[in-house]
Amino acid sequence: METTKLRTGQVKKCDASQCAYNTEHQCHALAITIGDEQNHPMCDTYCSASVKGGDLNIMAGVGACKISECVFNAALECQSPEIVVGPTGDEVDCLTFTAQ
Ligand code: SF4
Repeated sequence: METTKLRTGQVKKCDASQCAYNTEHQCHALAITIGDEQNHPMCDTYCSASVKGGDLNIMAGVGACKISECVFNAALECQSPEIVVGPTGDEVDCLTFTAQ
């Protein structure tokens, strides 16, 4: 059976400095999930815990993205080489989201 390998984007920058996974504008979760059930490109991994999470030696990848309306989305995976995440009002969103 022939298989198609999907590539996933990396989180180049994130300005949600209050997130447990964020250090110096970098996300250090192993992988993040983008999107909620309303098709809004929020960061579903954002966490306001007081402890720091993730691994400072890695740049987060996009593990999954539920936003099928984005031009970079294929099979609910992000195909952009990199994304930028940041606060928008009261929430934290994928700022690379581009509607089809
Ligand atoms: S760029 Fe589009 S497909 Fe990639 S994580 Fe952001 S919203 Fe999802």
